[in-house]
Amino acid sequence: MARTSSPDYRRIPAVDRIVDSPEAAELASRSSRPFVTFLVRRVLDNLRRELAESPEKEWPAPDLEKRIHESLKQEFHSWACPSLKKVINATGVILHTNLGRAPVGDAARRQLEEVASNYSNLEFDLARGSRGKRDVIAGRLLETILDCPRALVVNNNAAAVFLILNSLAEGGEVLISRGEMIEIGDSFRVPDILRKSGARLKEVGTTNKTHLSDYRQGFSEKTRLVLRVHPSNFKISGFTSKPGLEELSALCASRSVPLVEDLGSGCLIDLEADRIEPEPHPRESLSQGADLVCFSGDKLLGGSQAGIIAGSSRHVQRIRQNPLFRALRVDKLALAVLESTLIAYLTRREESEIPVVRMIRTDAGRLRERASQLASRLSGLRTDLTVEAVEGVSVIGGGSTPSQNLPTWLLRLRSSATSATGLESLLRQSDPPVLARLDREAVLLDLRTVFPADDARLVDILGRIGQ
Ligand SMILES: *Cc1c(COP(=O)(O)O)cnc(C)c1O
Repeated sequence: MARTSSPDYRRIPAVDRIVDSPEAAELASRSSRPFVTFLVRRVLDNLRRELAESPEKEWPAPDLEKRIHESLKQEFHSWACPSLKKVINATGVILHTNLGRAPVGDAARRQLEEVASNYSNLEFDLARGSRGKRDVIAGRLLETILDCPRALVVNNNAAAVFLILNSLAEGGEVLISRGEMIEIGDSFRVPDILRKSGARLKEVGTTNKTHLSDYRQGFSEKTRLVLRVHPSNFKISGFTSKPGLEELSALCASRSVPLVEDLGSGCLIDLEADRIEPEPHPRESLSQGADLVCFSGDKLLGGSQAGIIAGSSRHVQRIRQNPLFRALRVDKLALAVLESTLIAYLTRREESEIPVVRMIRTDAGRLRERASQLASRLSGLRTDLTVEAVEGVSVIGGGSTPSQNLPTWLLRLRSSATSATGLESLLRQSDPPVLARLDREAVLLDLRTVFPADDARLVDILGRIGQ
């Protein structure tokens, strides 16, 4: 009979034996016995899997139990510490969707702390001593900054688009250009949102060209709304055209149908001054005839996750009366950050107080200085590492300014001890994690998105990883 090499699972102790140990009891005293039992099961399952993969491995019993207790401690630690944590973004993508989009500046952070850890007048009118509304808080600032009759804030821009369509077009048709039937990262698809809103989609024009006459022909007595969507993260170039907002708005007005523009990013700064092709300013869209605009609070605006709807009083009022408005309402902490961010724009302190704006405007010369300083500090640090300061490009990201770059300076790292992918992975798993770019045989760190206050930490991390 052939010898089987099935693993000897009898070597794995029973769950109860570990749960009853003093080590596990200590962890249970800091949480609960069922939780520790759950962790023990996980640890033993992992062990069983390991054994199945290498059945010939010999584990002396005492050593095995020691290993189990160590894994149990690690497992406990990984649950008892928050998994959401700071990372150093050295990718050069300023608005990185996977890395939390816009970081918050000092003034907004102080406001966030104050509101988070105290009671607040969130829905209380202090002058009158009566119930108030949370969304008037940022509304007033938005109306001033955007020079529009009404604005309100909801949970995010996807919610804003949904709420607009559901409030103004449910049961009717929405005209939209084929060239704007887009999907934005995070599976936000215009056609899907539209369907769920209860409105019917009516595409007009073609992917590259849509004329005013296409919209005109698309109108019927069922048309409730015309939606324009900013293409955000891509650019169709070459043989393309679409009508200007002004002519489209005149057509919509003649049919008494609102024109809504989903701007995506909501850029309130003049990017042209930063030599970047401009993004449409919400104020301009409104003055050119859009009845409503909507945009995100945490893309180019540089604030918190929120969706801003601004424009005509009548339409904003209808949206506010939709019962779904309550379901999609903005959280108070997001509101605290948003209000503080808007005040920075109002008082022209956006560059000093909004990190996203500051990062966009950081001069390449300043980045060059930092890169060469860091490169010289790092080259003496360890023998296996080669560090150079090299020129490169950063991007704004977050569904804005596609195919446009900001000149930057990078640290180009190579290690004689490990591959570029190995180095990238060590950085990613360091504390705090450093997210870098890979360039085939080297790792690139873009200093534009690294806070200068983290430069010293970066040196420290690079000094100790993999050692
Ligand atoms: C990003 C984006 C959205 C979604 O905004 P969130 O704030 O992420 O919900 C919707 N429309 C456009 C055009 C966008 O760029």
